[in-house]
Amino acid sequence: MDYDVVVVGAGPAGCLAAKYAAKNGAKTLIIEEHASIGSPVQCAGLLSTKAIDACEVSFDKGFHPISGAFVYAPDGRRICISGGEIKAYVVDRRLFDRTLAENALRSGAEILMRTRACGIATRGNRRILHVTIEGEPDVIEADVVIGADGIQSSIARWTGLGTSENVLCGAQVNTVYDFDCCDCVEIFPGSCAPGFFAWAIPYHESARIGLAVRPTVTPGPKSRSISQSQPGSACWHLKWLLSEHRVVARKCRSGMTGLVVGGIPIGVLQRTAADSVLIAGDAAGQVKPTSGGGVYPGAVCAKIAGRVAADAVREGDTSARRLSEYDRLWRAEIGRELAIGKRINEWVARLGDSGLNRLIKVLDDDELLDLITRYGDMDYPSVVLRKLLMNTKSVGALLKLAPICLR
Ligand SMILES: Cc1cc2nc3c(=O)[nH]c(=O)nc-3n(C[C@H](O)[C@H](O)[C@H](O)COP(=O)(O)OP(=O)(O)OC[C@H]3O[C@@H](n4cnc5c(N)ncnc54)[C@H](O)[C@@H]3O)c2cc1C
Repeated sequence: MDYDVVVVGAGPAGCLAAKYAAKNGAKTLIIEEHASIGSPVQCAGLLSTKAIDACEVSFDKGFHPISGAFVYAPDGRRICISGGEIKAYVVDRRLFDRTLAENALRSGAEILMRTRACGIATRGNRRILHVTIEGEPDVIEADVVIGADGIQSSIARWTGLGTSENVLCGAQVNTVYDFDCCDCVEIFPGSCAPGFFAWAIPYHESARIGLAVRPTVTPGPKSRSISQSQPGSACWHLKWLLSEHRVVARKCRSGMTGLVVGGIPIGVLQRTAADSVLIAGDAAGQVKPTSGGGVYPGAVCAKIAGRVAADAVREGDTSARRLSEYDRLWRAEIGRELAIGKRINEWVARLGDSGLNRLIKVLDDDELLDLITRYGDMDYPSVVLRKLLMNTKSVGALLKLAPICLR
C-alpha cells in the first residue's frame, strides 16, 4: 500500500487532517485501530458553536443546546453566566466522529479500520508504517504520516517529538441529575477536583457528571466510605463528588448508565513536525488548558496539518524544514491562546478553596457578570480575562489574589 499521506487515528483531528489532505489533492488513507469510529468515548461532548463550525459539521437535531453556566464556589455560593443565547451544544461523540469520518471519505480519503500502527521506519525521504490489519502484520508507505493518535501518541514518541508535559486524569458517569435549568452546565472548581474542576452537563433527559484532576496535586476531601479506588485518583474523587458533594450528591440519582475515563494533555509539544511527520490534536497537546476541550483546537490545527502535508507532497519536499510551516501556522492561529490558558489553569489551581471563594464572591456582581456574559468565550478565555483586568471593580480583587498564586 502506497499513499501520499497516511493519518494515524480517526478521531476529530485525524478525520479533519485527512479531509484537508485529500481536498488538497493528496492520495490519503486514515488508519484506525478500533472496529468502530468514536468508540470508546472519552469526552463530555460539550462543544462550542465555534468548535462545531471548525469541524464543518452541520447542526443536528440530536445536539443539546447550552446557553449558560452556573459556577459554584466551594462554599456553595453560585454565580450564573448566561445571556440567553446558545453558546455551545452537547453532542454524542460517537455520532459526531462518524460524521467527521464520512466527510473525510466524501473528500476522497480512504479509511482502514482495525488497523493499528505498530512502528515507523524511514526509507529515503519516505516513511514505512508497520501495521497490523485485523491482527495480520503489513506495511504501508507514505510521503507524510500525520500522527493524530490521541494522548498516548505512539507516532510522536517514535519520531522523537515527545509527549505533553502534564496529563490530567478525567472520569465521568452518565446518570440522572436534577438540573435547575436544562440548558446550563454546572461547574465546580476547588478541592472536589484538585487542579481542575468537576462538571454536570445536561444531555436531553440524562446528565454527564465528571471531573478531571491533576495527579500531582494533593488529594482533596477524604472519606472512609470511598476507599475502594486509589485515594487521589479521578475515580476516587468522582465517587466522593457523587456521594458527598454538597450540591452534586443532593441532585444526582444513584446509579449510572456509563463510565468514561481518560487523560487530558496540558501543554503543547515543543515541535510538531519532523521529516515526513506531523502531529495533530491531543497527540500534540492541542487542548484548551482552561476547559480540557480538545475538539476545537485540534480541528483548527488538523486542517492546517492536512493542507501543509498535501502541499509538501506536491512540491516534493517533505523535510522537517518544509513541514515546519505547519508548526508556525498553528502557533500563529492559537498558540498564544493555549499558552495563556495554561497560565490561567496554573493560577486557578493554586488558589485553593478559600481563594476560589473570594474570587467567586467578587465576581458575584451584576456589572462583572454582565461583562463575563458579553466577553466570555469558551475557546478564547484570554478575551474576558483582559476585560476583567481592565475593570476597576475586578482588577483590585484579582491583584489581591495574585500573591496566593505566586507562592
Ligand atoms: C473525561 C473527558 C471529557 C472530555 N470532554 C470534552 C468536551 O466536553 N469537549 C471537548 O472539546 N473535549 C473534551 N475532551 C477532550 C477530547 O475528547 C479530545 O481532546 C479529543 O477527542 C481529541 O481528538 P483527537 O482526534 O486528537 O484524538 P482522539 O479522539 O483520542 O482520537 C485518536 C484516535 O487514534 C486512534 N489510535 C491511537 N493509537 C493508534 C494506533 N497506534 N494505530 C491506529 N489508531 C490509533 C484511537 O483509537 C483514536 O480513535 C474530554 C476528554 C476527557 C478525557
